[in-house]
Amino acid sequence: MIRMAAPVCIFAAVLASAMAVAAEEQTAPRVLLFTKSAGFEHSVIKETRRQPVSHAEGILRSLTDEMGAVLESTKDGRRINKETLSSVDVVIFYTSGNLTEKGNDGHPPVTPEGMNALFDWIRGGGGFIGLHAATDTFKSEGGATTAFTEMIGGEFVTHGEQFKASVRKVSPDHAAVRALPDVWAVQDEWYMFARLNKEHMHVLALLETGGGGNPQKMYQVPDYPIIWCRSYGDGRALYNGLGHREDVWEHPVFRQMLHDHILWAQGRGDAHTEPNYAEVVPE
Ligand SMILES: [Zn+2]
Repeated sequence: MIRMAAPVCIFAAVLASAMAVAAEEQTAPRVLLFTKSAGFEHSVIKETRRQPVSHAEGILRSLTDEMGAVLESTKDGRRINKETLSSVDVVIFYTSGNLTEKGNDGHPPVTPEGMNALFDWIRGGGGFIGLHAATDTFKSEGGATTAFTEMIGGEFVTHGEQFKASVRKVSPDHAAVRALPDVWAVQDEWYMFARLNKEHMHVLALLETGGGGNPQKMYQVPDYPIIWCRSYGDGRALYNGLGHREDVWEHPVFRQMLHDHILWAQGRGDAHTEPNYAEVVPE
């Protein structure tokens, strides 16, 4: 009888763990989209009387509905607090400027305590996604890299005229970019960065700006990271530099990427965040 008990016991354990995985997979993510613009306000996140739901929110809402996920979208900085964060799995920033100031769009700022709560929440296992303008947020003043830039992994410096560039996947099996083809040629506004957090960065995709006959001198540089991720304490953070243009948001590849980003940020599967900058980014 004792001989029989062992396999039964193993079977039960395997079944229990399979059930735990199934239960985890059934938990739909709760997502908070935050789009306050203390600095420049992008048209994709603009809310007007004629269009009270921004372009980005509309697309994200159709996606999260499809996923069975819950989405709250806000420009109110007071929503970034410990209590709100404790009730969500993933926070998406499409923001600009110093968010502790009222700034350009006039919506209430985030308190310094709120920002600290965000960092603590990510460290405690939360999932952060920054899109496009997110690196134009809490930029350095007086030479010191801000805590936000350290977390998100880079700081916006400049961009030129929009053009079609190639986004090349460099982490082929990564769950956060499953939908991204090996190479995706797309028209967008291409940010250039400083203060890349090379030490902690797992680069997911590079921007190839040199090909395609792009004449702008500023982009005659080696390929550089445009989508990346990292571990942050027990949590996960990802930045995707795309998403200036309305038609990028509408593109099935971008939409599916958001889907993949959200599930990864929620904590599904391996984090897969080992730093790889030196291996994948050309000198
Ligand atoms: Zn832009």
